[in-house]
Amino acid sequence: MLNPERRTLSPLTDRFGRVHTDLRISVTDRCNLRCYYCMPAEGVQFHCHDDILSYEEIERFVQVAARLGIRRLRVTGGEPLVRKQVTRLVEMLASVPGIDDLAMTTNGILLTQYAAALRAAGLDRLNISLDTLSRAKFRRITRRDELPRVLEGIAAAQRAGFERIKLNALAIRDLSEDEIVPLTRFARERDLLLRFIEFMPLDAVGRWNNHWVLSGEEILEILSRDLGPLEPVCPAGSAAPASEYRFLDGGGWIGLIRSVTRPFCERCDRLRLSCDGKLHNCLFSTRQWDARKLLRSGGTPEQLAELIRAAVGAKKKARGTDNGEFAPIDRSMYQIGG
Ligand code: SAM
Ligand code: SF4
Repeated sequence: MLNPERRTLSPLTDRFGRVHTDLRISVTDRCNLRCYYCMPAEGVQFHCHDDILSYEEIERFVQVAARLGIRRLRVTGGEPLVRKQVTRLVEMLASVPGIDDLAMTTNGILLTQYAAALRAAGLDRLNISLDTLSRAKFRRITRRDELPRVLEGIAAAQRAGFERIKLNALAIRDLSEDEIVPLTRFARERDLLLRFIEFMPLDAVGRWNNHWVLSGEEILEILSRDLGPLEPVCPAGSAAPASEYRFLDGGGWIGLIRSVTRPFCERCDRLRLSCDGKLHNCLFSTRQWDARKLLRSGGTPEQLAELIRAAVGAKKKARGTDNGEFAPIDRSMYQIGG
């Protein structure tokens, strides 16, 4: 439940009473993997350097957003760690007044190199994407032979002192069924928090259809059949999109992000800034607000605040539409920031 006082006081409350406190910032659309569900194998048109926001521009945007009530930031991409000196941005964002949680989503390949520096720069939390523990399958999914570096990266993040690291595994039919139990055991043994994510219609080449969605219910069935019964854990008042389940034998915890079968639009508190400075109020929104234009044409903090409020004010009830149905969009996760 929303705190009624916060609801009336927050400038980022939308028409449906949702208070926006979370901003995802994509720092690049480039990546060192080519996951088949996210990017085409070749010929991807990336933004040129001048198109993407500088760290100073991102900081200015965040300062205004934080004054309006944004409290949590997540740095993402593309692959955020391929952008030069991203630790410098982390340091800048960590010191913006009002920000009390700074996280990053990464494929983990470069964590061996950067984990300690990210921690020192003020990064609070890490989500690492890992869909399989099979090297051959990893190569098939990502079109690169990088599983060993990802596993080393996870270990490096733990050595650097990151706690409660989340592992994100995309669940796709005919691909992920055999991965569910090994990934769960891997996470249990290392004290990592594993979440399975339903496949959303945001793929590179329009291959998505409902058939490929391995649902949260099916994942629970596999887990309780092979590892033992689970019970739901309900964090009171949580706006978190993941529903959490605990193994009754005390053997850990998993999360399910059921974006397709149980969308969490009614609790959505997120905005997204793409690397080219467009503000999105929903992954599926067809409308964007051009923050870069304002940032580069001497826009004042008040004008930026107006742009952010406009994006929140125009947010639809569900999934970018007002009737809750999907409007297909011609955009992948790497382009908007996952
Ligand atoms: N490169 C980083 C990574 O892979 O963690 C950050 C960006 S990536 C776009 C963020 C997350 O989006 C990954 O966990 C990935 O599995 C997820 N993702 C990509 N395409 C998706 C889709 N169509 N449906 C659901 N999740 C998707
Ligand atoms: Fe890169 Fe992440 Fe997309 Fe995979 S999911 S291609 S790692 S941006």
